[in-house]
Amino acid sequence: MLSIAPTGTGWIEVICGSMFSGKTEELIRRLKRAEIAKLNVSIFKPNIDDRFSKDHIVSHNEQKISSMTVSSASEILELAKDADVVGIDEAQFFESDIVDVCQQLADSGKRVIVAGLDQDYMGKPFEPIPQLLAIAEYITKTLAICVKCGRPANRTQRLNTDPKRVVVGSGDIYEARCRFCHEIFENR
Ligand code: ZN
Repeated sequence: MLSIAPTGTGWIEVICGSMFSGKTEELIRRLKRAEIAKLNVSIFKPNIDDRFSKDHIVSHNEQKISSMTVSSASEILELAKDADVVGIDEAQFFESDIVDVCQQLADSGKRVIVAGLDQDYMGKPFEPIPQLLAIAEYITKTLAICVKCGRPANRTQRLNTDPKRVVVGSGDIYEARCRFCHEIFENR
């Protein structure tokens, strides 16, 4: 479906799903293939996410690739100006200007591959991913496996009761659940 080398026109690919669905693994797979094709690849993540590494994107299955950490989406425009392919992980942690940044990158002929959580722990759309889905040429939804029942899972269950929308963590405070097993604890 996707040609490997940009042909003068850019585009946006979004990889989204719950935690533990393999989003970062799929992002790394595409970026490594671009590197094999000798394309100039620049990879970014927000500075909120330093769970595993400051200078790499790391997947739960321990694949990794070098990345730069930025504190705002606008920094990407300058840092990626020589790139053919731009990878962005954990896009849900950027402000809404990530949408315009991705448009500008794609308009200037770059292939932009963005990965992020499409729902928060309440099962609500997690901005700015819905806006990115609307403008993307290609969308991949990755599903995890529900740890309760084994069905395909598209939700992230938070196992503690912190009411903040963003609590950065991994298997200790989150797990994948399907819509039937996902529980929302309100007013606790
Ligand atoms: Zn389930």
